[in-house]
Amino acid sequence: MASVSEEQVLGALKSINGLENNDNIVSLGMISGLVVKDGNVGFAIEIDPKRADAYENVRKAAENAVDAIPGVLSVTAVLTAHKDAQPTQQGGPQQGAPQGRAKQMVPGVQHIVAVASGKGGVGKSTVATNIALALSGAGHSVGILDADIYGPSQPRMMGISGKPQSPDGERLEAMQNHGVKVMSMGFLVPEDTPMIWRGPMVMSALQQLMRDVNWGALDVMIVDMPPGTGDAQLTMAQDVPLAGAVIVSTPQDIALLDARKGLNMFRKVEVPVLGIIENMSYFSCPHCGERTDIFSHGGAHKEADQLGVDFLGEIPLDIAIRETSDGGTPIVVSDPDSPHSKAFRAIADTIWEKLSGGDQETKRAMPNIVMQ
Ligand code: ADP
Repeated sequence: MASVSEEQVLGALKSINGLENNDNIVSLGMISGLVVKDGNVGFAIEIDPKRADAYENVRKAAENAVDAIPGVLSVTAVLTAHKDAQPTQQGGPQQGAPQGRAKQMVPGVQHIVAVASGKGGVGKSTVATNIALALSGAGHSVGILDADIYGPSQPRMMGISGKPQSPDGERLEAMQNHGVKVMSMGFLVPEDTPMIWRGPMVMSALQQLMRDVNWGALDVMIVDMPPGTGDAQLTMAQDVPLAGAVIVSTPQDIALLDARKGLNMFRKVEVPVLGIIENMSYFSCPHCGERTDIFSHGGAHKEADQLGVDFLGEIPLDIAIRETSDGGTPIVVSDPDSPHSKAFRAIADTIWEKLSGGDQETKRAMPNIVMQ
């Protein structure tokens, strides 16, 4: 099969008019993040977000033009706000709104909380899932957005398989289990398909998972962030209207160094850090009940104090947590009376209190979200 080149894609896109100055979208410099891999093509069209409706036809025409190139297997074009877009505000100017960056709200979603970690494998997804389920158990309507598009865990942890439906052909219905809505790249792409997304395309894919999905009305959306503090995470922290971030860390020093990077990343983009959770805090022996501080327990608490961030709680290393999470029935739903479930619920309650304004300090630090 003929392999598709970037030149071919750009050539096809030159046939599409950009609505401005009667020129095409390539010459107008509107195409970014072009990725071509094995016949799969992705790119973003940078536009003034106020004109998103007008540009929907341009996006579709661009996809069709590229789709017509022999050898193209799939095309995904997304509209993104061009870099110098200024925030547009409804209801007059809002004090303290981040300058020069528009954060688009997700309709129907009240609070978006990122669960992040400085590095992989610290149990970020496990904690995100159990907190989401604890919030749901407390009567809040909750969704989980699995933003780890390279290694999505939520389908497995939430015990959901199958493909999301799109009754109107435009928006996907969120999947659901244990009373919580979930959307993940894992539902859309077979597990053995290599992800071609990188850089700006990661953000665009996430924007789609967030906005082109019917979440219904949510009190809280928990975002299971990709691990680490690279560009994708920074962009996300910056572009998603986050009410706050929770950092998951193990007690080891090295993990804490990474956690500190995560903390600084959110601070840099003025997202309030709601607190740190120490996961795999200590080992509780399932046979004798003895407690062993396997990763020098307590490091995250000390670190949180030093950094002036709240310590939200600690979760032990326990095989029951691993088995239930990896088996699709996280401990908060499968064994709600266990001490671990109680610990997750206490953390979830603290988070909710901070979100709903019980915690004045966090409330003051909340970013103003601008509508566009
Ligand atoms: P991350 O999202 O940080 O990469 P995961 O949540 O996927 O990490 O967890 C990695 C592995 O560790 C999973 O198999 C998970 O079940 C297990 N795990 C996470 N937290 C705990 C815990 N407190 N006790 C036992 N196993 C855990």
